[in-house]
Amino acid sequence: MSKIIVLIGAPGAGKGTQARLLEERCDIPQISTGDMFREMKNDDTPLAKEVQAIMNAGGLVSDDLTFQIVKNRTDREKDSYILDGFPRTAGQAEMLETLANEQNRTIQVIEVDIPRRELLKRLTGRRSCPVCKEIYNIYFKPPKQENVCDFHPATQLTHRADDNEASVSSRLEIYDEETKPLIDYYQRTGRLEKVNGEGDLETIYQSISRLI
Ligand code: AMP
Repeated sequence: MSKIIVLIGAPGAGKGTQARLLEERCDIPQISTGDMFREMKNDDTPLAKEVQAIMNAGGLVSDDLTFQIVKNRTDREKDSYILDGFPRTAGQAEMLETLANEQNRTIQVIEVDIPRRELLKRLTGRRSCPVCKEIYNIYFKPPKQENVCDFHPATQLTHRADDNEASVSSRLEIYDEETKPLIDYYQRTGRLEKVNGEGDLETIYQSISRLI
């Protein structure tokens, strides 16, 4: 039976980086709600503007809208896929149960666990390529040439608008209140596995890919 693999963890835990590696190496599609919302950035609609404002402030987009984009994006998948950044609330977790039933898939949850003190550096040091979405970190994974993508030498890396201190603290607070309780829920229902998100990318990748 194909699976929905949910990567769960605080902002900055490295879910996106690991999901991208899994996609590249195991050919499992990575579906990131954050990326999909960021792609709306250039749309000139009231909805896109509203999403942009919520993201910049470090808040959460509504469950209904978030679920809609997840459903539209995943209904066309034929096999297993990875969700990065969804679910984030109890309401979304409930919607995911329904979706998994409809799509005849099981849910596997992998928590990427990382100490709080590590997160701030990861978030403020994070840079990404606007073209290929490759994620760098000026402290842990710098590009070969300063501020330029290794794969797109003509492209300057960007710093996410919500990786500033005020938005980060709001995102961490929301994570503790809304998302962390989901970890207990998946634990109780026997679907949670945990990996240590500290250390080098390859070691973390190996721990995750062993579970999949
Ligand atoms: P991320 O790239 O996963 O850190 O997401 C960036 C931002 O997109 C979040 O801070 C939220 O504003 C929004 N977002 C991403 N995923 C969700 C979700 N599942 N529910 C609500 N908002 C989300």
